[in-house]
Amino acid sequence: MSIAAATGKSKKPSVQKTVSKPAGKSGTKAPETNGEVLKHPIFDELALPTDPNNLYRQTVGSMLHAADVMDLPHYLQIILAQPKNEIMVHFPVMMDDGEYRLFKGYRVQHNNALGPYKGGLRFHHDVHLDDVKSLAFLMTMKCSLVGVPYGGGKGGIKVDPHKHSKTEMERIVRRFTTAIAHNIGPDHDIPAPDVGSTAQHMAWIADTYSFLAEVGGHQPSAVITGKPVEYGGSLGREKATGQGVVDTLVEMLPELNIDIKHCKVSILGYGNVGSWSGKIIQDKGAKVVAVMDHTGGIRNEAGIDAHALAVHCKKTGGVAGFKGVTAIDKDEFYRTKVDIFIPAALEQMIKEPEAKILNCKVVAEGANAPTTPAGERILQQRGIEILPAILCNAGGVTVSYFEWVQNKTCHQWELETVDRELNKHMVQAARRVRDARKKYKCDLRTAAYIAALERLQAVYAVRGIFP
Ligand code: NAD
Repeated sequence: MSIAAATGKSKKPSVQKTVSKPAGKSGTKAPETNGEVLKHPIFDELALPTDPNNLYRQTVGSMLHAADVMDLPHYLQIILAQPKNEIMVHFPVMMDDGEYRLFKGYRVQHNNALGPYKGGLRFHHDVHLDDVKSLAFLMTMKCSLVGVPYGGGKGGIKVDPHKHSKTEMERIVRRFTTAIAHNIGPDHDIPAPDVGSTAQHMAWIADTYSFLAEVGGHQPSAVITGKPVEYGGSLGREKATGQGVVDTLVEMLPELNIDIKHCKVSILGYGNVGSWSGKIIQDKGAKVVAVMDHTGGIRNEAGIDAHALAVHCKKTGGVAGFKGVTAIDKDEFYRTKVDIFIPAALEQMIKEPEAKILNCKVVAEGANAPTTPAGERILQQRGIEILPAILCNAGGVTVSYFEWVQNKTCHQWELETVDRELNKHMVQAARRVRDARKKYKCDLRTAAYIAALERLQAVYAVRGIFP
């Protein structure tokens, strides 16, 4: 990096939005575009992906927009626009039939200015490096915003966990742990669960790591969070992300004149985040009226029992077949009139078509990066408020932090303590976002990035860049 860059005195880049043309040739199916390319000199400077649909370009683009609004120095913009380390591993695993298969795994370490890298492990057949990079980047922003002493990381294995027996998954997870063991550690990089990975997987990772004596350290189980409670997990961790979504709504809804007790809610994805958000918001008096996951959509205007649906999903693998509801298609799901829509499935699911038909007042982003920039523009034009993911779903990493503290101090907190401390972090983060919105007169996503960037800027100011 140049001295000029390091002193932050260099040029101020500018963000421009231009409308892109569909990339396909006539007569062939054009790839779905988001209609809009976010341009920024740093994209060219760092040779970031040029495809407007690329998740990394989209997520970093939103941060760079916020960075320009707050006038963040150029040297911080380039540091934060790329991860520090991108680790990719390939490892063979014996299947139950005695044959070997080769698997691909990732660990991306985005930034550790605030503390050790922290972020989940995704087990999904469609995991790619750019997705993992985006999710690692979002973790840096989230940890900074919610005030936990971590940087950002993310990882994963290209695997469909539903297509493997328990014994195969155990060998895959343990072998992956061995492959990345020298790159993680209780004081260096602390993974956690994400889509497709479970508390059992976390237990295998902690156990495998503890056997690698040369890297194990003093509290090997603190190498990972989201563990079963029996093996160092925290009470309240399983529900933490859903709890954080609802805590954020409770804090933010009054200024939108929405009373949570009389809300109608729809939820996309009914796994960990979706089901806990549903159960907790229902317990606050709201009514869950529509849910959609990879098995289909369901609706009941009188209310779907969120607790019973969670039990059904655990048993059958999805919402399809739940009794006492009407099966609906994707279009009907998005058109269902609700106050709050909680996307809690995968990234980039709210594109232009979905944004045009969504019938809600607030989108509370439980999933990471569920709304594309083009989808977001339409929601904004339609006056729909978006509670951004780095705020809304930060409850998971916050309670992961509590789990790590408990492991490090050999202590177990009571559930009331976990919930109370989580609420404190969520409320403080929400207030910082509100303050930033007021100061910069911007949307909530930009405000959330600004609040996160302010903390990172402050730490870089005192740490400097060495050597
Ligand atoms: P999960 O695997 O428990 O659930 C994922 C859900 O998404 C399932 O209900 C699945 O059916 C649904 N889904 C998948 N593909 C779909 C499709 N094409 N259409 C509709 N639904 C589909 O995962 P999770 O842990 O609940 O994570 C969900 C999101 O929340 C992810 O973006 C994840 O990164 C984010 N997140 C999770 C946590 C956490 O603590 N688990 C924390 C922060 C953010």
